Amino acid sequence: MSAPLLRVKDLQVHFPGPKGRLVRAVNGVSFTLKPGETLGLVGESGCGKSTLGRAILRLGDISAGAVDFDGIDVGGGDRDAILRLRLETAMIFQDPYNALNPRLSIGQAIAEVLRVHRKVPPARIAARVAELMQLVGLSPDLANRRPRALSGGQCQRAGIARALAIVPKLIVADECVAALDVSIQAQIINLLIELKARMNLALIFIAHDLGVVRRICDRVAVMYLGRIVEEGATEDVFGAPRHPYTRALMRAIPEIDPDRILPADPLGGEPPSPLDLPTGCAFHPRCADAMPVCRQEYPAQRFVAGCRVACHLYQDQTTHSEQERIHA
Ligand code: SF4
Repeated sequence: MSAPLLRVKDLQVHFPGPKGRLVRAVNGVSFTLKPGETLGLVGESGCGKSTLGRAILRLGDISAGAVDFDGIDVGGGDRDAILRLRLETAMIFQDPYNALNPRLSIGQAIAEVLRVHRKVPPARIAARVAELMQLVGLSPDLANRRPRALSGGQCQRAGIARALAIVPKLIVADECVAALDVSIQAQIINLLIELKARMNLALIFIAHDLGVVRRICDRVAVMYLGRIVEEGATEDVFGAPRHPYTRALMRAIPEIDPDRILPADPLGGEPPSPLDLPTGCAFHPRCADAMPVCRQEYPAQRFVAGCRVACHLYQDQTTHSEQERIHA
């Protein structure tokens, strides 16, 4: 078994909100990711998935917890460690137009990365730009076009080429197909699947489209109000979701079963706010299975059929820390 490329332990990202209140956007997240593995991060808007993705790449601040990338502590803010992270990780953003500098042609945008990170000698840059464009299915003839002269799908391919220019070990893709037409989405997903296999890329795939996550991800982590409430192999989580929130999410997504009617209010209750976390299990105000203990205690993560689940319904299962002790 290969060692994890990424270890995230008890990560917290808090920042000041309105009226002096604290926004607990990420509130104690732990997971590992192996080389070449794809982890889907799913959950409703505002659950903290984008903040988590940015914090892992140190594009945003960390309040507490640890992030180790390829055996190096990058969570502590050490300059050399962050530099190493920049050299081996990249992010693909949701809006392909805003992600690229409108004043640069896409060839210049890709060349800029090669030059800044000294990935190839200056004399090789033009040839490498053409290689990268071909790798993502773009004709090198488009190298002189600016983003606005390209389609959304072409721009997203250019964004992926830019991300690949550093030859990353890890990419965080944040809703990278959400802004594209369905047929273009499928092309970009196929491209990511192909590149992942060809380059042994680890990928954190942030998405609200569970159908896409099921297609591309080896594992899936379901987030609710800044915490992972269920995590496991994609087929295990999709095949038999254990956490009541995961079950509600699955019921709400028509792509999983196109014949199933989307309920009018699949989750029920008030929409969540990281400004006002309920006591105990944060899902209890919306949970049909809630018990008195759910209002008082946050549930420990327990192992249920190979998945990590944070829910009092599984109190008789081994906790995550017990499992870690068993395997120590
Ligand atoms: Fe529902 Fe309780 Fe489980 Fe939370 S801990 S999801 S409230 S049953």
